[in-house]
Amino acid sequence: MISKGSLPIYPKVVAVSFIKPSQRVDVMTYASIPIVKNIVVAVLLLSSAAHAAQPDRFSNVVMEAAALTDSIYMLTGAGGNLAVSVGADGFLLVDDQYAAMAERIADVLADLSGTSEVGRRLKYVINTHHHGDHTGGNEFFVQNGATLIASEAARVRLLARAPSATAPLPVITYEEGVHIYFNDDRLKLVALKGHTDGDTAVFFERANVLHAGDLFFNGRFPYIDTGSGGGVELYLSSQEKLLAMINDDTQVIPGHGPIARRPDLMAVHAMIRATHEAVAKGVGAGMSLSSIQEKGLDDVYQSFAWDFISEARWIETLYWDVLKNNAAQ
Ligand SMILES: [Zn+2]
Repeated sequence: MISKGSLPIYPKVVAVSFIKPSQRVDVMTYASIPIVKNIVVAVLLLSSAAHAAQPDRFSNVVMEAAALTDSIYMLTGAGGNLAVSVGADGFLLVDDQYAAMAERIADVLADLSGTSEVGRRLKYVINTHHHGDHTGGNEFFVQNGATLIASEAARVRLLARAPSATAPLPVITYEEGVHIYFNDDRLKLVALKGHTDGDTAVFFERANVLHAGDLFFNGRFPYIDTGSGGGVELYLSSQEKLLAMINDDTQVIPGHGPIARRPDLMAVHAMIRATHEAVAKGVGAGMSLSSIQEKGLDDVYQSFAWDFISEARWIETLYWDVLKNNAAQ
């Protein structure tokens, strides 16, 4: 079974406060400009001058922003993909990667803010689930004024692994979902399960952009965190809910992998279903895990393997899921 200990998503990275005493004067000077009512952006703008030492793993990672609409961007760096909403109401982030990436994300926000200084305020960070490659920047952004939002189940898991009593936690949660009216759009947050028991998909209704969180690894075998309440059937049924929510014009931000459209999500969904059935067939024929791995999946699925979830590892996830289902029957 995949153990959490083998996940490459919990680096021992500590966010370092970058507001050094020598810089506070600058912050206050900037904040005193009448049009800027919130010093958050001023702090963000200073970030490039104050980068803390980065671990080698992230030192060469560049944050890149791709415009999906005139106000929504997809950011890629290390860890899960971000969505950013930029407009008159300020910034909203969906996920915030690793702590080590937070200041680079802040740099991108400063770049995206353009000429609207009022629109530079960071308001909300939504966590699609608790994993560290999606929530590592929470402390940094909360320190810079953001309000954290996540499902109640994700909050429970964030609390369980909080490194200290002062670690920031979501302050707005929901059991099934919530709407957020922001930047001339309605964001529909839907609580789902499958990758973990606390997944959230974020649908920007007017913009027709969906952030699927890790319920979608585009073109890849998914990671299903069975130790955190995830499961293959749950994953498939949540993907069906996402497919029902969107149309062929929807731009879909996957948790990992390139920007996608509905057919890409359908392809991954079909792959999961077919490979699940193939492994169940092997188990039904009395094959062991290693013999199923040795036989491998159909060649058409080879391209879904990647460095984190190899074919053998994906088969292992499916194998234990089939055994669990058989035992429950
Ligand atoms: Zn994840």
